[in-house]
Amino acid sequence: MLKVEGLNAGYGELMVLYDVSLHVTRNSIIALVGANAAGKTTFLNAVCGIVPIASGRVEFNGVDITNKNPYERVDAGIAHVPEGRHLFPYMTVEENLEMGAYSLKSKQQEQKNKEYVYHLFPRLLERRKQMAGSLSGGEQQMLAIGRGLMSSPKLIIFDEPSLGLAPIIVQEIFKTIVSLKENGATILLVEQNVQRCLEISDYGYVLENGQITLEGAGRDLLRNEHLKKAYLGI
Ligand code: ATP
Repeated sequence: MLKVEGLNAGYGELMVLYDVSLHVTRNSIIALVGANAAGKTTFLNAVCGIVPIASGRVEFNGVDITNKNPYERVDAGIAHVPEGRHLFPYMTVEENLEMGAYSLKSKQQEQKNKEYVYHLFPRLLERRKQMAGSLSGGEQQMLAIGRGLMSSPKLIIFDEPSLGLAPIIVQEIFKTIVSLKENGATILLVEQNVQRCLEISDYGYVLENGQITLEGAGRDLLRNEHLKKAYLGI
């Protein structure tokens, strides 16, 4: 579904990613893990069209999107749930969800998606008239995920969905990601919670200093000695 080949990207003179290749297959969870500043967010932002690509190719469902702008990528079916959530704090829960559906042509589909989000997160339904800025951290993360789902995405990209959340909420978020896959979604997941992330992933990539140094099935990576030492403290 998503094929990234030989991606080089960065910020002006500063190159962050070197020759990164990564594939996401339909109805799977693909993990991208790595230490702080390895370049994970830069990679996701390059895929979403926010960080310019110096060279390489990004293909989505057989179409070259390397030079498409972020809106065209949303239209193509890529939803991005960014790190830090980026909600509209002075808009209600429901208004934030509706903003996520801006690319949809059908009001009926928007309503269906909203019902799906409220079914996934009943707490958002209870709080639908509340300002997003006054939600708890966990509720804000649920809303960010919900907003991503509002565009009927073919691929959902999550950047550190568990960051800064209490362990019980982290568990809930991971459970939601698994249930999204069970309902047919395709997911690219960046996480610092390496153990949990690889446990639920079909395949994973390890990014170190802007390069992919290791890849394999999630469970196999968890048995890898280098990964255990560097990321799990074992
Ligand atoms: P973390 O897990 O801490 O979020 P990361 O793996 O997502 O880290 P990035 O945020 O992609 O890493 O950062 C990779 C490198 O790019 C870092 O050295 C960072 O300082 C640099 N960088 C990130 N954003 C910018 C920017 N807007 N301008 C210049 N440099 C940046």
